[in-house]
Amino acid sequence: MENVLKILEQDNFSKENIITLLRSEGENRTALFQKSADIKGKYVGNIVYYRGLIEFSNNCEKNCLYCGIRIGNKKVTRYNLSDDEILSAVNFAHENKFASVVMQSGEITNEEFVTRIEQLLQNIKKLTRDEIKVTLSLGEQTEETYNRWRNAGADRYLLRIESSNPELYRKIHLQNNKHDFQTRMNCLYSLRKLDYQVGTGIMVGLPFQTYEDIANDLLFMRDFDIDMCGMGPYIEHQDTPLLEHSHLLEPKEKRFDLTLKAIAVLRIMMKDINIAAATALQTIDPLGREKAIKIGANVLMPNITPGKYRDSYKLYDNKPCTDEDPDDCVQCLEARIAITGNEIGYGKWGDSKHYSNKFH
Ligand code: SAH
Ligand code: SF4
Repeated sequence: MENVLKILEQDNFSKENIITLLRSEGENRTALFQKSADIKGKYVGNIVYYRGLIEFSNNCEKNCLYCGIRIGNKKVTRYNLSDDEILSAVNFAHENKFASVVMQSGEITNEEFVTRIEQLLQNIKKLTRDEIKVTLSLGEQTEETYNRWRNAGADRYLLRIESSNPELYRKIHLQNNKHDFQTRMNCLYSLRKLDYQVGTGIMVGLPFQTYEDIANDLLFMRDFDIDMCGMGPYIEHQDTPLLEHSHLLEPKEKRFDLTLKAIAVLRIMMKDINIAAATALQTIDPLGREKAIKIGANVLMPNITPGKYRDSYKLYDNKPCTDEDPDDCVQCLEARIAITGNEIGYGKWGDSKHYSNKFH
C-alpha cells in the first residue's frame, strides 16, 4: 500500500512508477482512482463534453490486422453516407447543443475524398454559423492534405499511435509502406505543426503488449505533449487475422480495468488534457464509459450516425447501440451521466485546456 501511496504523492512518474500503478489492486487501486478523480475535478471540472460521432463510411484502403472493417474483410457491407446525410447528422448535433462533431471513417487518400472532406468542412461551418468545432479521424494523410483540411475549418485530429513500440506496432500490422510506424509518427508531427488540437491513443490489452509497453505509451503521450487522448480496450473481431493470437489475451474484464488505470495515470500526469471515454469500454461493461468519466475522462462521443448504417461500422465484435437511432442515444446518455455526478457541457466547445494553455 505504502509504495503506491508514495508514488501518488508525486505527479511526474517514472516508467517503474507507472507499471506499479497499472498493477495496483484493492485499496491501492482505489487510491489511484481517487487521486485521478480529484485532479479531474480540479483542473478540467466535472463537466462532460459531447462530440457527436459520425462514422460516415467504412470504406478503407488499409488492412490493420485487428480491425473489422479492414479492406481484406470481404464480409463487410460497405457504405458511404451522402453529403446530405452527413449534414443532417451535423444539424442534429447542433440542434441538440453538442458543440462538436467527430467525422470518422476508414482511411481513404484519393483526391476525390480529400476534396469532399474539404467541402464538407466548409459546409458544416457555414450551416452551423461556426458554432460547431470539427474533429477529424481519417487516418494517415499527407501534410498537404492535413493543411487543406485545417484551412477548410478542421479544429482537431485524432490519430491513435496504437502502440508507441515499433516492434509491437509491426506485429499488429502488415509489413508494407501502407502500415509503417514512422509514417504514423510523422503524421502526428505534421498535425502538431499545423496547429491542430492533436489527439492520440492506444488499444489496451493487445496480444503481445506488456505493462512496460503501456507505461511507455503513456510516457510517449506526455513527451509528445498531446492535447487529447482516446484509448480503449482491444476487443477481438472474428474476421480478423489478429484473432489467431487470442490465447495471449487477458480476459476482457482485465483489459477493461487496465484501460481505466491507464486513463487514471494519464489524468494525473497530464492534468488539463481532454480524455475520451471510448465506446469500446461500454462493449465490455454496460457502465464502462460512466466508470471512465468518474475516474478521469471528460469527453464522450455519442454516436449520431444514422441507425441503418451502424451495423456495418464494426471495428470489433459486439459494438454497442448499433441498433439505435441518435435520439435514443441522447436520452439514454443524459441519465447515465447524471449518475456520475458530472454535468454535460451543452453548447460549449470544450476545447482542450492543455492546448489553450500552451500558446494560445
Ligand atoms: N481509420 C482511422 C479511424 C477509424 S479506426 C484510423 O485508423 O485512424 C479508429 C480506431 O479504432 C483505431 O485507431 C483503433 O485504435 C480502433 N480499433 C480498431 N479495431 C479495434 C479493435 N478490434 N478493438 C478496439 N479498437 C479498435
Ligand atoms: Fe482502416 Fe482505421 Fe480499421 Fe486500420 S483501424 S483498417 S485504417 S478503419
